[in-house]
Amino acid sequence: MDYEKLKQDIYEEDAAQALAICEETDTDILVDDFENDKYINFHMVPPAEAWLAARFAWGPSFGEKTPVWTAHLSQYLMRIDPAMLVCLNRIIIIDGDQDIEPFTETLGTEDDFPDMDGEILGRLWYYENSVVIDVSAIRAIAKQLVAQDLGVFVLSEEMERGFLVTLLHEIRHLGLDCNIFLPEDEYPLPLQSNEAIEEWARDTYECI
Ligand SMILES: [Zn+2]
Repeated sequence: MDYEKLKQDIYEEDAAQALAICEETDTDILVDDFENDKYINFHMVPPAEAWLAARFAWGPSFGEKTPVWTAHLSQYLMRIDPAMLVCLNRIIIIDGDQDIEPFTETLGTEDDFPDMDGEILGRLWYYENSVVIDVSAIRAIAKQLVAQDLGVFVLSEEMERGFLVTLLHEIRHLGLDCNIFLPEDEYPLPLQSNEAIEEWARDTYECI
């Protein structure tokens, strides 16, 4: 990940008034992206575990264990391609629609929370540069697998696998879609197809 090149690209677009730099620190540049009509924060250094941990937002249904899960998942995400994390704002994890309202009250977003329908495992929230994962939908699928079971599937294992593959899948969407400066020679357009994204998620899950 070439952060110096990214910085130059942002400065150039700022000078051309294609976007406006709103805030800049040693680690982050917040821009107003006129073309896509949203703010994007670029994290300009390799992601650290603590920074990743601060991205996580859990629905109230999950109770008190979330700091342990956050720590575990932050360590996990340290092992993926850091270019996918440059524009990551939040990783929002809900357990069904019941968790949506408390979020919309605290997030202060102008955009509607993505419609999860109870059946969608995960979704990129493009406007917020965030991903949303619905554990209740993942649990339902894992339960189906175990119910049809021939003794192969274990619910907790299927849930963990479903959760991690979904998380990787949505982060891949975010990494390819939200970073307007992602170099096209390294990440050509065909990688954005849903099939290619799912393949990346499964391969990454197997490898890391
Ligand atoms: Zn997808």
